[in-house]
Amino acid sequence: MLILLGFRTAYRTLASRSGTCQYCHQYAPQHVEERANKLTLFFIPLFTTSRRYGLTCSNCGNTTELTRQQRDALAA
Ligand SMILES: [Zn+2]
Repeated sequence: MLILLGFRTAYRTLASRSGTCQYCHQYAPQHVEERANKLTLFFIPLFTTSRRYGLTCSNCGNTTELTRQQRDALAA
């Protein structure tokens, strides 16, 4: 019997805020994003194994890691 197990990363934008990027120093929309790693069985997501948050600049695309508390403060 063949069992196909794997991982998939799901991206989700939680909020968008305008601000100055620390990398390109441009005033541009910054997206608060969630990256969830999911265990898949036959390509069907079963459950989330880890969750990380980041602030992504829409101008240069660089991402800053966020803690859960920072995510709550920015996405509220
Ligand atoms: Zn930037």
